[in-house]
Amino acid sequence: MPNTEQDDSNKQNTDNTRLDFVRQIVAEDLKAGKWDGRVVTRFPPEPNGYLHIGHAKSICLNFGIAAEFGGQCHLRFDDTNPEKEEQEYVNSIIEDVRWLGWDWNEHLYYGSDYFKQMYEYAVQLIKKAKAYVCDLTAEQTREYRGTLTEPGKNSPYRSRSIEENLDLFERMRAGEFPDGSRTLRAKIDMLHPNLNMRDPVMYRILHAAHHRTGDKWCIYPMYDWAHGLEDSVEKITHSICTLEFENHRPLYDWFLDELDVYHPRQIEFARLNLTYTVMSKRKLLQLVQAGHVNGWDDPRMPTIGGLRRRGYSPQAIREFCKRISVNKFNSTVDIALLEHCLREDLNKTSPRVMAVLRPLKVIIDNFPEGHVEQLDAVNNPEDPAAGTRKAPFSRELYIEREDFMEDPPKKFYRLAPGREVRLRYAYFVTCRDVVKDKDGQIIELHCTYDPATRGGDAPDGRKVKATLHWVSAAHALEAEVRLYDNLFNRENPDNVPEGADFKSNLKANSLETLTSCRVEPSLAGAEASSRYQFERLGYFCVDSDSSKDKLVFNRTVPLRDTWAKIQKAQKKK
Ligand code: ATP
Ligand code: MG
Repeated sequence: MPNTEQDDSNKQNTDNTRLDFVRQIVAEDLKAGKWDGRVVTRFPPEPNGYLHIGHAKSICLNFGIAAEFGGQCHLRFDDTNPEKEEQEYVNSIIEDVRWLGWDWNEHLYYGSDYFKQMYEYAVQLIKKAKAYVCDLTAEQTREYRGTLTEPGKNSPYRSRSIEENLDLFERMRAGEFPDGSRTLRAKIDMLHPNLNMRDPVMYRILHAAHHRTGDKWCIYPMYDWAHGLEDSVEKITHSICTLEFENHRPLYDWFLDELDVYHPRQIEFARLNLTYTVMSKRKLLQLVQAGHVNGWDDPRMPTIGGLRRRGYSPQAIREFCKRISVNKFNSTVDIALLEHCLREDLNKTSPRVMAVLRPLKVIIDNFPEGHVEQLDAVNNPEDPAAGTRKAPFSRELYIEREDFMEDPPKKFYRLAPGREVRLRYAYFVTCRDVVKDKDGQIIELHCTYDPATRGGDAPDGRKVKATLHWVSAAHALEAEVRLYDNLFNRENPDNVPEGADFKSNLKANSLETLTSCRVEPSLAGAEASSRYQFERLGYFCVDSDSSKDKLVFNRTVPLRDTWAKIQKAQKKK
């Protein structure tokens, strides 16, 4: 579905016709009295990496549905693979879901807490002759499985007796066999057109310590076996997952039906893809490990930690998830929409301040030396209650280097020799002289100001074509500002020539660090993660590297809204 159509879907959920398809199912079930009127969803991350904006879509869907329909959403760690999982990831996931503003109350669960129950269920299937211990190696198992066009072959161990299977499975658990030597498999149908149904592996032997159960287990359940059982034990009503699991659903259903246990409904939706972004944890890990970014929370990363550090607000991310809605078809969302949601939120909430990224000294020749005027500056024109602050004005100022041109082209309306412009909240100034060093580099400008224009208006009604931001040289604070660009130079970073990988699409200069910026003095002591609009420049937030001695800002997003532009152009068509 094109993004424009997604735009206003799912704005209200009181009106059934505008609900997305998942919410429609939940609403219909409630109406029909299914599930005893309960709505229980879950967000089930595997703690093997940090959450990203794709996960936010799933989080907002699952927690959102629970909140809207008076239900409950569980946070469940799907921690069935001991090899890649760590407590560090568990902690970061908890932090991220909370930061996004969701609450699981007491419903925090771990798949590993159900290992014993899962084992007992497996024994039940063996007793029903629906599972068997198989001695094929991993490679042989793959060979026997067949392909989409070739049928599978029965394992020679498929016909083991129930007694032998029970005995071997017990001994697998007791640690008698080496890793990979045996598996427990469901006995379904090696000729099944769906490969997932060709006697899938339920348990593998793995002598590895688990982050929660330690060395207690040396057999670990496979995802398809574990996941449905976790849902069942927790009495989930709607088990919402991404489209890749659509052809796992018959297996999900088979396990629960064969065990004759509580059986949730699995519903699949399309995962989020974003332009200029890779989303898989595996690829994000590669970026971190190869040093292409500075860690998981690098502000260029699409991780929740990265977005937070960049200056994203939880409100902006939630609004984005609402706008994109959910559907059944894989598509790619324009990152400009995410940034648009961000600007909308920050525009309402961010105090305005003045900051100069690439300073050029301006001396106001007719302003008395040593004199300081405190001028009133508006904190947020979108929020009258935010009030005003004082901005000190003095004889020596800094303006943005790019706001001056010695020999301006026709459409350049900012400062130039002999030209008058407004300094925001201050005065009209006119450029009288340009001073250069011996290499011809401009080092300072000499201007005069018109004292009658205090506040920024001329009593005689004369107009200027530009208003510039500025800071007082003696009062401004030095700051470092980090400017970020997309990590990748292609809309689809996975689009690569044969033999190359997505990293060949990395942009060379996605981070630019400016070290001699000047910001207005009201920013002294600004706390990490506070967000501001630097007038005319964009939204910025205080980085966690910032300290009393050295202010560090991240540019969250520039002001120019490409999404709004795209929308306008489409309306005109
Ligand atoms: P990745 O592909 O990034 O490694 P994953 O699916 O392996 O992610 P899990 O920890 O298993 O990560 O995911 C937890 C939940 O988040 C799952 O229900 C999964 O479907 C969902 N999810 C993961 N990526 C996306 C995405 N891009 N869009 C929507 N939901 C997602
Ligand atoms: Mg996964």
